[in-house]
Amino acid sequence: MHHFHYKEDQLFCEDVPVAEVAREVGTPLYLYSHATLRQHFLAFDRAFSGVRHLTCFSMKSNSNMAILRLFALLGGGVDIVSGGELYRALKAGVKPDRIVYSGVGKGEADLEYALSTGILMFNVESSQEIVRLNQVAKRIGRRARLSIRVNPDVDPKTHPYISTGLKENKFGIDISDALDQYRMASGLKGLDAVGVSCHIGSQLTQVEPFVDALRKLKGLIRALGDEGIRVDFLDLGGGLGITYENEAPPHPEEYARAVQAELGATDLTLIFEPGRVIAGNAGILVTKVLYTKATREKTFFVVDAAMNDLMRPCLYDSFHAIQPVRPRGREKVKADVVGPICESGDFLAREREVERLDPGDLIAVMSAGAYGFSMSSTYNSRPRACEVMVKEDRYYTIRKREGFEDLIRGESIPDFLTEDLDRGE
Ligand SMILES: *Cc1c(COP(=O)(O)O)cnc(C)c1O
Repeated sequence: MHHFHYKEDQLFCEDVPVAEVAREVGTPLYLYSHATLRQHFLAFDRAFSGVRHLTCFSMKSNSNMAILRLFALLGGGVDIVSGGELYRALKAGVKPDRIVYSGVGKGEADLEYALSTGILMFNVESSQEIVRLNQVAKRIGRRARLSIRVNPDVDPKTHPYISTGLKENKFGIDISDALDQYRMASGLKGLDAVGVSCHIGSQLTQVEPFVDALRKLKGLIRALGDEGIRVDFLDLGGGLGITYENEAPPHPEEYARAVQAELGATDLTLIFEPGRVIAGNAGILVTKVLYTKATREKTFFVVDAAMNDLMRPCLYDSFHAIQPVRPRGREKVKADVVGPICESGDFLAREREVERLDPGDLIAVMSAGAYGFSMSSTYNSRPRACEVMVKEDRYYTIRKREGFEDLIRGESIPDFLTEDLDRGE
């Protein structure tokens, strides 16, 4: 369920006409529905109300502070993958004891920053990271709570670029080596081994791979127990898929039932790191048609959003539905929806049946709430779009559109090149 729907012949986000926001703040723009974000978070979180758990929103999917703040108020934590994400989360009021830190390449400065703030745990991904974390902990006189992200070698049956739990992926520590690594970690004075983690991939549309991974992790936890290593947390990562086109992923309730059935009675606290399933269908990218071009072979709709705004189509060849903001019941044409960037990979949709559009028409690129803005860049020196949150009949700018001056912030021209410089002011 989401709150983007047609009413009075035009697309609304909750009770606000999308066209009105676009007119007032300009395009391209990311538009999020507060009610949808809230509902998706609660649907996931409440699905596990029968077990002790913590829902840590994977903030790489959407790191806007207003959105993090909303989840923090709903009792959530976050899964971070960098020091920058930790900074954002703390600024948004997320409590450190609700933060877990994942990632294969955590630098020493980031480890120290996270340790000094007292985050819940580090999901470590290599033997060397365990050693490094111990060194940092001893140096600053703290103990680090650690969980090993194990690679359970299960096939998540998703796109290869977002599959992370197979032997050949760079992530985690091979499950067959995990026991040795826990033994090593438990001998180190700066560390407390408190959990076992995994994250097998993204956009999963079946529960079986999750259950397979959980079964392997249970075996590891049992083996750890036999050695006197007792963990409190079991982190099952994120990865639950959503409907972009016609996928039929399990509802969080179904996922929760499958997890709880496999787990049985437990003293463990479960941690989840959902991203896409919460934010994906809670946001759209609104863009305006600049030009239409028909060659003998093809029709192109050139719009003012591009691959720098939404990278998923060019990166993963992923599908996003294209909907007219004000449908006019025109005939459908098969077209490529492309951006202004000088790359052939700059498309939002290809060979897509869409209602014939004219310059000035607005379209909504659906399911853009996760891995949309957070993956955006300023390639081609295009200032980043603004982000707006709708709540009922009002809207709030939660990130203003960047200007040209933002593009050159931090850049400088060395003295030896400034002779006769006319800065165009
Ligand atoms: C990306 C990522 C997630 C979130 O994945 P979704 O598919 O968006 O739920 C969770 N945990 C880790 C470690 C990740 O890298």
